[in-house]
Amino acid sequence: MPSANTAATRSQALFDRARRVSPGGVNSPVRAFGAVGGTPRFMATGRGPYLIDADRREYVDLVCSWGPLILGHAHPAVVEAAQRAVGRGTSFGAPTETEVELAEELTARVAPAEQVRLVSSGTEATMSAIRLARGYTGRSKIVKFAGCYHGHVDALLVSAGSGVATFSLPDTPGVTGAQARDTIVLRYNDADALASAFAAHPDQIAAVIVEAAPGNMGVVPPQPGFTVRIAELCRAAGALFISDEVMTGFRVSPAGWYGIEGVPPDLFTFGKVMGGGFPAAAFGGRRDVMAHLAPSGPVYQAGTLSGNPVATAAGLATLRHCTTEVYQRLDRIAAELGNAASEALAKEGVAHRLQSAGNLFSIFFVDADVTDFDGARRQDPARFSAFFHAMLDQGVYLPPSAYEAWFVSAAHDDTALGRVVDALPAAARAAAAVPPSAAVPLSGAGAPSADQEPA
Ligand SMILES: *Cc1c(COP(=O)(O)O)cnc(C)c1O
Repeated sequence: MPSANTAATRSQALFDRARRVSPGGVNSPVRAFGAVGGTPRFMATGRGPYLIDADRREYVDLVCSWGPLILGHAHPAVVEAAQRAVGRGTSFGAPTETEVELAEELTARVAPAEQVRLVSSGTEATMSAIRLARGYTGRSKIVKFAGCYHGHVDALLVSAGSGVATFSLPDTPGVTGAQARDTIVLRYNDADALASAFAAHPDQIAAVIVEAAPGNMGVVPPQPGFTVRIAELCRAAGALFISDEVMTGFRVSPAGWYGIEGVPPDLFTFGKVMGGGFPAAAFGGRRDVMAHLAPSGPVYQAGTLSGNPVATAAGLATLRHCTTEVYQRLDRIAAELGNAASEALAKEGVAHRLQSAGNLFSIFFVDADVTDFDGARRQDPARFSAFFHAMLDQGVYLPPSAYEAWFVSAAHDDTALGRVVDALPAAARAAAAVPPSAAVPLSGAGAPSADQEPA
């Protein structure tokens, strides 16, 4: 196996060029490898479960574009649907049949999503859902939970997961005091704290937004009863319950996390899988709430490329291939891989927790179950980096952050899975070799170096 230092030459050259023209050399912070060090791999091709980088090195991909590629890279049916759509014209700025079909598919799978509005990113979906909740209730405050990530919406970046957690960013500059003041941040899995927040702010809370099953601080599933309590407390207080299923939607079951736990929110947000690798997302829910959206109602929301014909065609093709068998297979593969990683680490005596929510899973380098963001932040980042790079050197592409879920696809066959399993013992040994004293919190001396600026 080529070592990371010698083999990344084209990636290194591209990264150097990229840093001259883009901040940090990337268009989304976690891609820069800031948390794990080293040179990000520039990718050239994706095929099934594999990614091939600019140096022609092949990796088993356990990121899957951070969730969307549930069928793997370049699935023939998705490619064909997109190519056909492109041939018919790429954007019309007028309604099309495909967007109706996609909306029908979403609402058929997730019954409480009676109506949906298509947008182009998960960020747009949560931002619009919050505006709608504020417009519908006439209230301004929003409740979110620490460690949950809902895209880079100003009001939701406080104590956020994903890249914000990866880089230990404090409350992001650029978000005004007024925007942050209307956001109440609570501990995840703490329903009593939510009850107290409602008591402290009567008739002021427009909505509670939560990741249906958080995957952006690593995977931290809701404790039994937590989601139900959110729904009950919201109903009693006249606030809307927004379930953010951008990551879980259409991935963990045909109806996402709602299909597993069965607690209906007032509004959902969707993205990732439903776009089939293209920019398509949605928010939706109760018909009477959605009726407040323009042009039916007064709350404005719009988009030049919303419901784009190519993106909706690819999303529709993806969802139509997400059969019961696909979900069964994903569940089995995820359990197999998670257990194999856990066993390899246990064998080397590395403290860790395997946590999962449906077929989403991640490994925390901690010695106690993780139920909230504080628990997730007790991870040993140096151990994760060692593990990550040992896997990468052996041709396995993990998320370059300890605060992210691992993603599998239906294309991950026995050959691909075998390669991951074969790489685990050496990676576990690399993690075990990191002395505990080397564990540095990311906010301290281990923060990303100057040339790998996160922001
Ligand atoms: C990815 C994600 C978002 C943001 O979606 P983008 O398409 O990246 O804007 C929002 N919420 C959750 C739960 C996500 O995982």
